[in-house]
Amino acid sequence: MRVALLSDIHSNLEALDAVLAALPQVDRILVLGDIVGYGPDPNAVIARLRSTGARAVRGNHDQAMLEPSTLEWFNPHAAAAARWTQGVLTPQSRRYLATLPNHGRVGRHRAVHGSPKKPYIWEYILDDLQALEILVKLGRRWCFFGHTHLPRIFTEEGEQIPNLDDWLPLPPSALINPGSVGQPRDGDPRASFAVADLDSEAVHFYRVPYDLATTQAKILEAGLPEIEAARLAEGR
Ligand code: ZN
Repeated sequence: MRVALLSDIHSNLEALDAVLAALPQVDRILVLGDIVGYGPDPNAVIARLRSTGARAVRGNHDQAMLEPSTLEWFNPHAAAAARWTQGVLTPQSRRYLATLPNHGRVGRHRAVHGSPKKPYIWEYILDDLQALEILVKLGRRWCFFGHTHLPRIFTEEGEQIPNLDDWLPLPPSALINPGSVGQPRDGDPRASFAVADLDSEAVHFYRVPYDLATTQAKILEAGLPEIEAARLAEGR
């Protein structure tokens, strides 16, 4: 079975559509949270995802739509964008976000937004030691995650910044972050995603360019923080 891994779409419809158009043949689409926040098209992104039959887990920006008190944890720009999103979110979109679980499964593998460590506190997995602690508890499984907006593989060997050229073999225990569709932060502005092959035990990472000038124009027109437009071109 091949699973497309999409994370941190952040209301960026142009990036999502470019990824869906570039998607190779897969059996399932799995979204690792932060469907909304930062970007200008929360309702259209949710509608598009629903039309693909994608399964999804909830991210901290999705949670903020349901529980506004969590905005205290956000930086000022993120909080301003979240308040804007709350204002435009339709009841159907809000209901959809409310149905999303905090964690999911694909066969024996796990899917979360931040980290599989309980309680789910939106931890960022950023370094080897932290990853190793999680891998030991995870056992012979993979965990798909997002939240950092950085495409990465963590194994007992350490951190790997994936190349895009080929299928990368995965050991029995691994943490896989496909990077961000809608707001990459590794210096490459192209939308990031990955496909995991559960049978051949390998993962392939992809980058696709998208019409980010349109997304930027929509951000400014909506009155969202200007920094959310500028950062898309930098990939930061
Ligand atoms: Zn995010």
